[in-house]
Amino acid sequence: MEKHELWQAVLSKIEPALSRPNFLTWFQGTGVMDLAGGTATICVPNGFVREWLQQKYHKSLLHAMREIDTDIKEIAYVIGQPENTGSMFKDRFLRRKRPSMPSPFMSDDMSIKELSVNPETSLNPRYTFANFIVGSFNELSHAAAQSVVKNLGTTYNPFFIYGGVGLGKTHLIQAIGNEVLTHHPSLKVRYVPSEKYMGEIVDALRNQQMGALKEKYRAVDLLIMDDIQFIARTEKMQEEFFHTFNILYERNRQIVISSDRPPQAIATLESRLRSRFEGGMIADVGLPDFETRFTILKTKAETKEIALSEDVLKFIAEKIKNNIRELEGALNQLIMASKLSAAPIDVDAARKIVASHAAAPRKFLSHKKILKVVADFYDISERDLVQHSRKKDVVRPRQIAMYLMRENLKTSYPSIGDKFGGRDHTTVIHSCEKVAQDLLINPDLEDELKAIRERILIV
Ligand code: ADP
Ligand code: MG
Repeated sequence: MEKHELWQAVLSKIEPALSRPNFLTWFQGTGVMDLAGGTATICVPNGFVREWLQQKYHKSLLHAMREIDTDIKEIAYVIGQPENTGSMFKDRFLRRKRPSMPSPFMSDDMSIKELSVNPETSLNPRYTFANFIVGSFNELSHAAAQSVVKNLGTTYNPFFIYGGVGLGKTHLIQAIGNEVLTHHPSLKVRYVPSEKYMGEIVDALRNQQMGALKEKYRAVDLLIMDDIQFIARTEKMQEEFFHTFNILYERNRQIVISSDRPPQAIATLESRLRSRFEGGMIADVGLPDFETRFTILKTKAETKEIALSEDVLKFIAEKIKNNIRELEGALNQLIMASKLSAAPIDVDAARKIVASHAAAPRKFLSHKKILKVVADFYDISERDLVQHSRKKDVVRPRQIAMYLMRENLKTSYPSIGDKFGGRDHTTVIHSCEKVAQDLLINPDLEDELKAIRERILIV
């Protein structure tokens, strides 16, 4: 079978399981580059897609490929352009209309079901306290999470945990659920990412089954809501969640919530929800230090029964600082490389593998990126941010963007002014000073800036 025919067949198998935007996002511009020695080499447009395919779709891809060609044993992902599959993709997949669109809120995590996920609770049994590594960056949230298990519904209710991408929030909050169930199997636990919750509400409204849905969430002993920041975008969803929250809270049922930022930094969060969250325990996860990164790599390499030298692990731990998922990604690439090559992996080989991570442009800091992250963070448009809009809710984000440019890029005041529609340099100075002053009296702002800085590093 030709390479592009194989890929076409694989995509046809994958496509029905995904929402259309998802499918297009992750598979447009991909192709099979090589099929030799049992390894299918798939080319992808950039490092981000590569990481995503590896993390989310690797199993499904491999499965689909093997169904078609049993000789294929492994998949390697490289950044590059497919030869002639571009037009095939357009003809086959772009023009076709799908009969029905899945819910617009369907999240990536949900699109291909992991078999091991418990259908009752939606918990993934792989997230446990036993395999969660504790360092100074997460010890507070870890301790709080354990205390939640011991004092369910009483001491820390709600428990709100926040931090950047790939730092273990989902792992930790699911570990709470799994641990509770090992001690009290009869308790009702439910884990749900807020995007999925919203999708369920949309469906229930369409099918007139809101009653059943309310019952489902209001009958639990422990509700774990992941990535609550998405819910803040729509008032109706917040409204619904607020009622469920109150009912659970009044019955002393435990609520655990995660977010990429603290409650006060979720711009569109209704104040009554925010004050509810603030009434419980709020803990943050920061960035892991070198020792912890090393321990994480070492432990994961051991569980995968792969012998990698300490030098190689130290090298990786040194290079990848901001994201534990990326750390795992690099380790998996090393493991794959070591399976494919006869020689043991040394630091040089590791350097090549990590270089492909580090080469991604997302590590590069620019004015544009600061604007994008700040606009995203406050859920406003970049246009409003830079133009002369006087809307109240853009004034502060704008000051913060200016402050971050000054702080991180050492840009001169006049040229920051230029970036914001030709504002005068005195305005810029005033803005930066305002933020600096606010920082002295408002500890929440410090948290907010920290969350933004982390995103700037990670995005
Ligand atoms: P987040 O929800 O903050 O984006 P995840 O919980 O999904 O991050 O973590 C990303 C990956 O890193 C997961 O595979 C998770 O198991 C792993 N991970 C994160 N933190 C730890 C930790 N402290 N110990 C071991 N593995 C971790
Ligand atoms: Mg998560």
